[in-house]
Amino acid sequence: MSAESFERFLSRRVRNMQESQTMKISGLAKKMQAEGKDIVSLSAGEPDFPTPENVCQAGIEAIRSGFTRYTANGGIPELKKAIIRKLSRDNGLDYVENEIIVSNGGKQTLANTFLALCDEGDEVIVPAPYWVSFPEMARLAGATPVIVETSIETGYKMTPEQLSAAITPKTRILVLNSPSNPSGAVYNEAEVRALMKVLEGKEIFVLSDEMYDMICYGGVRPFSPARIPEMKPWVIVSNGTSKSYSMTGWRIGYLAAPKWIIDACDKIQSQTTSNANSIAQKAAVAALDGDQSIVEERRLEFEKRRDFMFRELNTIPGIECTLPEGAFYIFPSIKGLLGKSFGGKVMKDSADIAEYLLKDHYVATVPGDAFGAPENLRLSYAASIEELTEAVNRMRKAFA
Ligand code: PLP
Repeated sequence: MSAESFERFLSRRVRNMQESQTMKISGLAKKMQAEGKDIVSLSAGEPDFPTPENVCQAGIEAIRSGFTRYTANGGIPELKKAIIRKLSRDNGLDYVENEIIVSNGGKQTLANTFLALCDEGDEVIVPAPYWVSFPEMARLAGATPVIVETSIETGYKMTPEQLSAAITPKTRILVLNSPSNPSGAVYNEAEVRALMKVLEGKEIFVLSDEMYDMICYGGVRPFSPARIPEMKPWVIVSNGTSKSYSMTGWRIGYLAAPKWIIDACDKIQSQTTSNANSIAQKAAVAALDGDQSIVEERRLEFEKRRDFMFRELNTIPGIECTLPEGAFYIFPSIKGLLGKSFGGKVMKDSADIAEYLLKDHYVATVPGDAFGAPENLRLSYAASIEELTEAVNRMRKAFA
């Protein structure tokens, strides 16, 4: 039998799942690069900086001292304490040790939460544009994602009226991701409070993905819904060391939530992956407790690149950007390019545009369809100013 005919044995769960579009495009870009093509890749979802030296050293010391065995399933106490200090220092949040779990990357914390709280038929509200994995993780847990479309007019943020209209008796979780991947939108305190007001008295949890909390610009700081005392029992804060500390490969994520949710995630993790990597846990302590000036230096560098991309992209006819307030992505609307012909092909949607940019002009971007926004493109500015300049020049030529 051919591999294709065997594929019918795949579970319905997997067959219903979308492949991660971001991984797909960066995979294709890497393949073209390996073939010797001069690709400028703005498709990656990770900082282009190396892991800080003190963090690497802590990892090396962990290996040398033999800290290479299973740890407590939910993370070492030393790291949980460092996470508690971080949440207090940077986010104004108070948690105790039994309200924290360490997992294999932010992704696992989120997947555990959906598995812990969702049953078949439950609904999960996901504002679009959304990070690619939210709807798929909700589906994997048996729930139905309910997508709320936002627009450039509201800076890609969901309004309280939209939230209110999306709620049904089946709503179990609202996903909030601020700063947002892909739009870079950050909900300010007033906006978070207004959304939380809609949830007052309702039995709905808020999964607050704060992965990019330390990468915000122009004095903006995100406001966690867990800061609101009445909401705290309903909020699950997800974060990790991947983006702030350039530690994507180390795989450390964490949750702060009421103890009963942490216990449930611990149970799921104990039967699936067990503890996060022991060496990476030691390195994460060094990241969270060490000198934070490198986080600020890198944030400033990202801010320069953001300003550059915003200024340059907005001068290309047919492209319109909002100014991202956080993360390291810019999410231009390419509505003005749709229906036009480039490279002998009519551009129907963002997938056509991304394919044209990659194949004809060697610029890798991610089509907005992957994020529930078919009239946008996601460009990561986790690249040097030289690379960004080259990418913008190629795009200007592509759409001339
Ligand atoms: N949440 C958001 C919004 C992200 O963009 C990402 C990574 O791209 C993650 C979570 C997952 O992070 P990790 O690499 O720690 O699993």
